[in-house]
Amino acid sequence: MKEDISVLIALQELDTELSGFDRKIEEKKQELIAREQTIAEKEALAEQCREKAAELEQSQRDIKANSEEAAERIKNRQGKMMQVQTSREHQALLKEIEEAKKTIKDTEEQQLQVMEQVEAEEAKAKELENLCAGEKELLAEETVKVEKSIDKLNGQRLVVQEQRDKMAQRVPSSQIKRYDKLLKKREGLAVVRVIDAVCQGCFMTIPPQKYNDICLGEQIFSCPTCQRTLYYLPETEEADA
Ligand SMILES: [Zn+2]
Repeated sequence: MKEDISVLIALQELDTELSGFDRKIEEKKQELIAREQTIAEKEALAEQCREKAAELEQSQRDIKANSEEAAERIKNRQGKMMQVQTSREHQALLKEIEEAKKTIKDTEEQQLQVMEQVEAEEAKAKELENLCAGEKELLAEETVKVEKSIDKLNGQRLVVQEQRDKMAQRVPSSQIKRYDKLLKKREGLAVVRVIDAVCQGCFMTIPPQKYNDICLGEQIFSCPTCQRTLYYLPETEEADA
């Protein structure tokens, strides 16, 4: 029985090593994804600036149309001036001309303001686009590096995987099924040590009688709380420290 548990412990060590590789590989992939996202966000922001500039340009055209309309009105009213007979009509036309002139003056200011806004939005978009282009280049270089290091990790992982498969063959099939199931269900930790009657998987206390049995190491026991396979090792090193 002592033999069985030591194989399970070794198997757990190899699986922990494998999941370490998986985590490292996943982290590297996630880093690239995060950088891609940052670039995509900046690109979306640049696109928003472009859209805003286009909207402003449209309103600029509207303002210009207003101004042209006012100029047309002035011409028209000035033409009518020649034909008016009463001073009341004359006054009314003069008032309309004054109003149209004021409109032209206002629209000039508006156009200037909007033009500045368009330029600002376009400059912002351009800046973001330049930034994105630079970051994309860097990311492409980084991606090559990361892919290489992932290949390397996968190579190392494969060696451990082979050791793991060989080790797994030494465990009876009924036990390996249970072990694999636990490994999946318990975040990659199926075999854990008991220290001072505490399961190091779920950190619950093991009942005294069961703890004594585990310490004897003649039989394989499971944690009553998390069902992980438990083993006991004397705490010599820790006691000395
Ligand atoms: Zn437990």
